This record gives sequence, C-alpha cells and structure tokens, in this order.
Amino acid sequence: MGARGILLFSGGLDSILAFKVLAAQGVDISAVSFTTPFFDATKAKKTAERLGLSVSLIDITAEFLQMLHSPRYGYGKNMNPCIDCRILMLKKAGEIMEEKGGDFLTTGEVLGERPMTQGKQILMLTAKKSGYPERVLRPLSAKLLPETEPEKSGKINRSALLDLRGRGRKQQIEMALHYGISYYPPPSGGCLLTDIGFSRRLRDLFEHTKDYSIRDIELLKVGRHLRLDEKTKAIVGRNLTDNKLIENSLNPKDALIRMEVFPGPSVLVPGGGDGKTRLLAARICHRYSDAPRNQEASVTCLLDGKLFRYTTSPPPSEMLESLLI
Ligand code: SF4
Repeated sequence: MGARGILLFSGGLDSILAFKVLAAQGVDISAVSFTTPFFDATKAKKTAERLGLSVSLIDITAEFLQMLHSPRYGYGKNMNPCIDCRILMLKKAGEIMEEKGGDFLTTGEVLGERPMTQGKQILMLTAKKSGYPERVLRPLSAKLLPETEPEKSGKINRSALLDLRGRGRKQQIEMALHYGISYYPPPSGGCLLTDIGFSRRLRDLFEHTKDYSIRDIELLKVGRHLRLDEKTKAIVGRNLTDNKLIENSLNPKDALIRMEVFPGPSVLVPGGGDGKTRLLAARICHRYSDAPRNQEASVTCLLDGKLFRYTTSPPPSEMLESLLI
C-alpha cells in the first residue's frame, strides 16, 4: 500500500506545491484546514476545489483561545502566537492521522521563508512539540532538514523532494508553471492576529472582560471601539455595513444608540452600561454623525425594549482620541 499523508492545507502556493510534489510520488493525500474567529478556511476551500482535493475543515476555536492567553513561545509583532499555533495545528492534524491511519503529516513550509516560524530550529521544535518529531515532512525543503520516518522507511522517495530555502518565490513560481497551476492566492494575509488594530482591540477585551463570548470577538471586527470605563465600551459603526452588523448582533441587555434626526452611526454598548456611559456613548454618536458639532442634537437609546432620549453635545476631539482603543 502507498504512503498516506495528512497535509496542513492553507490554500496558498506552498501548500499546493507540497500536495503536487507528494502526489507525483503517488502519495495518498488528505488535506486539513483550520478555522477560528481569527482566520478561516475560505482560501483553502476554494483552492482545494480547483485542485480536486478533499479538505476537512476543523474548528479549533476552544483550544486556540486557551492557548492565545499565554502562548508558551510568545507572540509575534502583534497578538499572533505563530509558533504555538503551528504546534496546535500539527497536534490536531496528528489526531486525524491517528484516526485515518495515516503515515505522516506534511506542510508546505519552506525553510527560512518566514523568520518566526520557519527557521530550522523552529521547524524541528514544532514537529517535536506536536508529538510527531519524526513524522512531519516538509517536502519543499526536505533535503535541507533531517530525514523523517516516511523517508527512512522508503515510503517517500527523498531524492524526489526539494531543497527550497528563503523568502524568494522564484522557484515556487517556476514550479507552479511546471505543474500548470495558473491560479493561487497571494502569500500573506488572512490572520487577524497579525493586524495591529485588531490586536489592540483583542488585548483590551482580554484585559477587561473575563467571561467574553465568541460574539465579543466577532464584534472586534466591526466599527470603531472606544473604552468608556473599566467595564464598558462602545462600538461605533463606520458605514452602513457596520451599522447593520451592529444592529443584527444586538443582545437584549445591550444598549443601541442612534441619532434621532440626522444621519449617523449605530452605536452599541454591549451589556448596556450605566447612565454615565450611555450618555457618553450618545455624545460619541453625535460626534460621528452629520449633526452640527456646535449645536445640541437629539439621540435615542434603545435599552431593555424601551426608548430613551438624550439631548447631547459632542465630546471634544482630544477626549475622543483618548477613548479610542
Ligand atoms: S499568522 Fe495566524 S494563522 Fe498563521 S501561524 Fe501565526 S497565528 Fe497561526
């Protein structure tokens, strides 16, 4: 029987090439892709369809969040715990390998392509910590890395694997031409934890809300966020799409604040806040609306099924700046 590999599939060019290189050896490949609120498998799904590759999508939110609070190997530039994330993904893929009776795990990682996760020591560390130190095969750089079990056992022909190294994409592009791959998504992007603004909002959520929900994380993707006090924040829609998302995500305890007459944003106060924070949120709503800033304006607040009215003036710019998360 031929070798069976479980491929961690992102849908990017490197993972497509890893698939092609192994498929050319007759390896039976099953792909897996992971989802959390911070990244999804849209790219992987789309690319897999084009390749005729079946991909299992696995939601790892619970384990990921647990790890994200204190990743053993720390964060990258923002809230991205890349080393721990790779270990977790390899572990989860390993569970699938055990279930399916696979021989090895495989990835499209290229030695030295990404400084934080693809240095030689880190590639070896992530394989070791996944629990499969000898069964993580990186076919694109295999010749530069220690021999793995499937290579030693002869299930994989090491001489047909590659020795790619570094950040240049020239060889990958040539290989894409060779394999007739005309479509592949751009190499980076897709993980919100590498985004500076999103990371700031996430850190603020972790610091202020112990029992946060997935909805709280989803809301970090919408609008401007302003911290009103230690317990309360306001989320201000920046456009019609944000406003709709805010209105559709309303919980019974939240306060929803809008301008009564002038066009303006929808402002959500998750958990409802208190009188002081609701008034401040109403003033913020005024500030981001089309109402004149030098006049008072009427703002409504929907709370607990009841509609309240405020007459507000907008806060000064410096105050607003200091509240923005
Ligand atoms: S960028 Fe995001 S998805 Fe990629 S390894 Fe880092 S934390 Fe994981």
